[in-house]
Amino acid sequence: MGKLFVISGASGVGKGTVLGKMTAKRGDLLFSLSATTRAPRPEDIPGVTYDFVTREKFMEMVDEDAFAEYDIHLSACYGTPRAQMEEKQTRGHVLLDIEPKGAFQVRERYPEVTLIFIKPPSMEELERRLRTRPDTTLTEEKIRERLERATWEMAQSGKYDYVVVNDDADRCADEILKIISDKEHEE
Ligand code: 5GP
Repeated sequence: MGKLFVISGASGVGKGTVLGKMTAKRGDLLFSLSATTRAPRPEDIPGVTYDFVTREKFMEMVDEDAFAEYDIHLSACYGTPRAQMEEKQTRGHVLLDIEPKGAFQVRERYPEVTLIFIKPPSMEELERRLRTRPDTTLTEEKIRERLERATWEMAQSGKYDYVVVNDDADRCADEILKIISDKEHEE
């Protein structure tokens, strides 16, 4: 049976790059596929980056207790369908890229989960990264919104099992892979 790892980190922290480097180095890691009501972005691949669902469908899944966790976040709903997550666990370790509220719900239901938080080197650096992101043209309002959200997320980091700093994506990926391999060899 594979183990569960939650990896959280604020928008702009470079989590996508870190996760990419981790999977390049360890091809056996599996990703949980979240369901969301947010609109797909150009870079999204339905069924790969997210399962895009209507709010009605999402609420139906909530009623059916189909989620391992779920959250209403940035005006959209996000959740981890339990069936796909548990099925993947029969094949390997599963990574959940979810925010703190969801992370703590997973811990309630699956106490053996390992919670890992990726921090930026500083809030100033996070702001700089958000402002110079090549893939998005964020409005000032959106940048403010994300920084506020990031401040709240950082305040939750003390409840995580591990906090890693993304000062360098390769180094950060290696640090997380070391946590995973240590957990693998535990017990
Ligand atoms: P985005 O819309 O930019 O893809 O993701 C926004 C945020 O939603 C990220 O912080 C991401 O970690 C979080 N998120 C993605 N999927 C889930 C999920 O299934 N559950 C929860 N609680 N958060 C999620």
